[in-house]
Amino acid sequence: MAEKKRLPWDPPPGPSTYHKKTSREQPGAPYHTWRWTKLSRAIRTEHPLCAECQRRGIIRPATCVDHITPWPICGEQGFFDRSNLQALCDDCNNQKGLRDKAKIQAWKRAHPGWDGNAGARTPQPATPGRRQKLTRLKR
Ligand SMILES: [Zn+2]
Repeated sequence: MAEKKRLPWDPPPGPSTYHKKTSREQPGAPYHTWRWTKLSRAIRTEHPLCAECQRRGIIRPATCVDHITPWPICGEQGFFDRSNLQALCDDCNNQKGLRDKAKIQAWKRAHPGWDGNAGARTPQPATPGRRQKLTRLKR
């Protein structure tokens, strides 16, 4: 395989930090799919600089791809919608994460039936099928 030409803003060679797990990943979000891997890679190639910093006139390399409307509010369609994506640096990503948190919490309160929280500790009215699964997992 031919080596990809390295651009000045590309991360240094070595173990990639590209897929590093951030605390911003919401339960149930389809991050661990080939579709997302491919899309986020494309966004970062097209937008190598942090969008928020650029708006403030600062040139900074982007390190992650952010959902402007966060998961789960954006839904699966919005999750894979390019117009809902922007490349951000770590700082801007963390700051936006704090802003999104309240939004997501309010959204979840308004959508109590949403069960992307299957792995979370908050007890939810479980379907008989899921309860069986949980019991089996506990053993
Ligand atoms: Zn930034």
